[in-house]
Amino acid sequence: MEDKYEKLEKVGEGTYGKVYKAKDKATGQLVALKKTRLEMDEEGVPPTALREISLLQMLSHSLYIVRLLSVEHVGHSNSALVDPNCDIKDQKKKKPSLYLVFEYLDTDLKKYIDSHRKGANPRPLPNSLVQSFLFQLCKGVAHCHSHGVLHRDLKPQNLLVDKEKGILKIADLGLGRAFTVPLKSYTHEIVTLWYRAPEVLLGTTHYSTAVDMWSVGCIFAEMARRQALFPGDSEFQQLLHIFRLLGTPSENLWPGVSSMRDWHVYPRWEPQNLARAVPSLDADGVDLLSKMLKYDPGDRISAKAAMDHSYFDSLDKSQF
Ligand code: AMP
Repeated sequence: MEDKYEKLEKVGEGTYGKVYKAKDKATGQLVALKKTRLEMDEEGVPPTALREISLLQMLSHSLYIVRLLSVEHVGHSNSALVDPNCDIKDQKKKKPSLYLVFEYLDTDLKKYIDSHRKGANPRPLPNSLVQSFLFQLCKGVAHCHSHGVLHRDLKPQNLLVDKEKGILKIADLGLGRAFTVPLKSYTHEIVTLWYRAPEVLLGTTHYSTAVDMWSVGCIFAEMARRQALFPGDSEFQQLLHIFRLLGTPSENLWPGVSSMRDWHVYPRWEPQNLARAVPSLDADGVDLLSKMLKYDPGDRISAKAAMDHSYFDSLDKSQF
C-alpha cells in the first residue's frame, strides 16, 4: 500500500471507520481510502464480501455514484501506511484487511450546506443548485434501485460534492450492511435517525426502495431550508417530529399502520402546511416533496418517476 499511495490526512469518519485522503503515487490522482469491516480469515476474502464488492464496483460505473477505483489487501507486514502510529508488534497481531480506494471529492453535502448556513457569508443554496443536486441524487438512487440495491442510509454526509463542477455523488453504498443499519457507529456515536423512513422507525421487516425515497425527501427539504426537517434524537422523538408536521398517520392514510411492531398510541396531530416548512421552494417543489414524504411506502414516488416530475421542467437534463 505505501508503495502505491501517499496518505495525506483524515477527511472523515463514517459509520464503519475512518476515511483518509491519499495520493496515488503513480498517477498523482487524489483518492479516498476506506478500511472495510470485512476482515479476512485464513481462507481469504469471504464470498459474501466479494459479492458486495463486485456489486459496488458495478454500480460505481454511474457518474452519480462515487467511483470505486480499486480494492487493496493489506496484510500484517505492510499495514504501516494505514496506521502509521501503531507499532510493529501491534501490526503483527492485526488481521489482514481490505481497503477500498475511491475517487476523491472535495466536500460532502453536510459540509456544503453548513458552509452556506454558518461563517462569514451565510446565504441560501441557489434554487437552481438544489434542483440540480436533487436530480443527480434521484438519478443515482434510480440506478441503484434498477440493480436491486437499496442504500438504506442516505444522508447529506454520504453525498459527496464536486463544488467546481456542481456534481453530486452517492457514497457509502450498502457495503457490509446486508440486513440492518447499526444504531451506533464503530466509535459508538449515535447513527443519525433524521433521514429514516417512518416504516423503518415503526419496525417494518419489509424494506423497499421507498425507504431511500423518504431520505431523498428529507435531504431535498434540508437543502432548501439549510436545516434538517426532522432532527430527532431518539426513535420516538423522530416519529414525533414527523407526525407533528405531516399529521399522525391513521389507518385511512396508511392501512396497517396501527398493527406495525413498534406502533404506540401517539398524540393526534393534524397535517401542517408543508409549504411553510420549506418557504424557498416553489409549488412544484412542494408537490414533489409531498410525494416523497407519503406515509404509505406504496404511495411514495419512485426515483425514476421523481425525475419526470414538473419540478425539473426548467432543468436542462441533457447535461446529465
Ligand atoms: P462515509 O463512511 O462514506 O460516510 O464517509 C465519511 C466521511 O468521509 C464523509 O462524510 C466524507 O466527508 C468523507 N468521504 C468519504 N468518501 C469520500 C471521498 N470519496 N472523497 C472525499 N471524502 C470522502
